[in-house]
Amino acid sequence: MAGEEKRPRPLVAGNWKMNGLRGALAEAKAVADALAAQPMPLAANVLICPPATLIMVMAEILRGSPVMFGAQDCHRAASGAHTGDISAEILADAGASAIVVGHSERRADHGETDAVVRAKQAAVHRAGLTAIVCIGETAGQRLAGQTLDVVVRQLDRSVADGSTAANTVVAYEPVWAIGTGLTPTVGDVALVHGAIRDRLVERFGKEGHVMRILYGGSVKPQNARELMHVANVDGALVGGASLKAADFLGILAAYG
Ligand code: PEP
Repeated sequence: MAGEEKRPRPLVAGNWKMNGLRGALAEAKAVADALAAQPMPLAANVLICPPATLIMVMAEILRGSPVMFGAQDCHRAASGAHTGDISAEILADAGASAIVVGHSERRADHGETDAVVRAKQAAVHRAGLTAIVCIGETAGQRLAGQTLDVVVRQLDRSVADGSTAANTVVAYEPVWAIGTGLTPTVGDVALVHGAIRDRLVERFGKEGHVMRILYGGSVKPQNARELMHVANVDGALVGGASLKAADFLGILAAYG
């Protein structure tokens, strides 16, 4: 069971998905400026994952700010003949510090299996970055009472042996909660995160106690405080509400 280990510093990560023309950079700047103006530093790390085209400009905009930036996906190879893809090494070169892998939209739109996700996680580690590995059940699996089985199986298959708390973050994102405005009850979140924690500890020992487990799926300023204070919730992966600085800051206020 999860023990009395020191809790990890929470992470709140924004996933802009396929949204964000250059004008959207003003939102990232507004987040960074607002955090810099706060009298007390935030008790969480903050990451924004824009489309890959904006990463290098974001590096300029966020220079000197504690707000980190990352990417939403990568190829498993370091370089080569993979037209249209982008590698973890290229993203690291652009300044990214973390890469999301295995998002349910990648699994659904591109048929990414757990094995593919695990290979991408390895690529992220090879490039020296942190992998945010997404797992979560569909509505049908939930209705069939399979949530814990599905989530633990995805965890086992998507997260490689040897992962550490420094190079890996797990994001539990029920597929039915993404972009729908629906969220599980805090009791359900506690149950799933508890099962993930137990499995992480079983597999990774001490590291498993401090590996961050984010909750994702319709996190908003209105529900952030409640969701972020559930046991074993070490932050959030935020889609829609990360696009506007005011909303994202409203979520970050849960750690203010
Ligand atoms: C996501 O895309 O990871 C996500 C959680 O989206 P949303 O917050 O919009 O539900």
